[in-house]
Amino acid sequence: MTKLGFIGLGVMGTPMAAHLAAAGHEVSGYDVHAAALAKLEAAGGRAATSVADAVAEADVVITMLPNHPQVEEVVLGAGGVLETAKPGTLLADMSTIRPETSVEIANRAAAKEIRVLDAPVSGGQAGAEQAALSIMAGGEAADFAAALPVFEVVGKTIVHVGPHGAGQVVKAANQLVVGGIYGLVAEAIVLLEASGVDAGTGLDVLAGGLAGSRILELKRKSMVERSFQPGFRIDLHHKDMGIALAAARQAGVALPLTGLVAQLVAAGRAMGYGSLDHSALLKVVEDLSGHTKAEA
Ligand code: NAD
Repeated sequence: MTKLGFIGLGVMGTPMAAHLAAAGHEVSGYDVHAAALAKLEAAGGRAATSVADAVAEADVVITMLPNHPQVEEVVLGAGGVLETAKPGTLLADMSTIRPETSVEIANRAAAKEIRVLDAPVSGGQAGAEQAALSIMAGGEAADFAAALPVFEVVGKTIVHVGPHGAGQVVKAANQLVVGGIYGLVAEAIVLLEASGVDAGTGLDVLAGGLAGSRILELKRKSMVERSFQPGFRIDLHHKDMGIALAAARQAGVALPLTGLVAQLVAAGRAMGYGSLDHSALLKVVEDLSGHTKAEA
């Protein structure tokens, strides 16, 4: 069984670390929030007192942090993973961050003989809780093969998508599609309701036809009910739309729909919806037309 260091025990990290402990791995976890550590202990893991304490003996380190500044601090900073993990350790950063930071981390880690994969996930909180995440990994094929038994504990669709940074590019593509679909489902709901048609009934039909999607399948009911508990917060999706647009600029391509969706997500944040689930894009679309329906 693998000795695992797990940094970042939030919405996603807590259930992932719990599954890894339940599978028999030795999990030492660290988070700046003490409450998260208690949950890890209850799930059979060990609460570490620092990043160094979590990773010093680890064979595999997983980071599941909000964004690149936190990943840089934990991995590159004083007392961080590169300073305190053993040579040969495999670091899988499963956070969603900009691809260039993943590439920089891989380059700096190589000098310390630490192997790195960028391995962001999709599937949301439910995917983490049900150990059914999709994992898109960038890095060396041999390192992906070494990490696979660990990934298989938390994921179902696990694919090596290319070199360092490629996992993050695939995740950016995923997020622009997810944001776009949420925006269009929101517009469909507003159109149906404003036309006097029952939105739940209408979306039931859409879900069974060509317009069907995983988002319609999982979220149409909660959206029509205006239940916006996260889940995946608007604030995090705002970060991801920024990553997608920056990646497009880097690649020299124009993504006009992504730009529009990014503005709607930014509007949601500016309107104070940042801590709501990203399905609250519906509130932004409603506000554009002065259309209102009470929240659940
Ligand atoms: P979260 O905010 O719930 O969890 C992040 C955790 O990191 C928090 O517990 C926080 O205390 C901890 N943390 C922050 N800085 C730290 C530091 N310096 N040292 C130690 N711990 C630190 O976020 P989340 O929803 O779990 O998301 C984590 C990552 O996964 C993000 O990049 C997000 O975009 C991505 N993601 C989230 C979802 C989702 O549905 N929530 C789905 C797919 C991907």
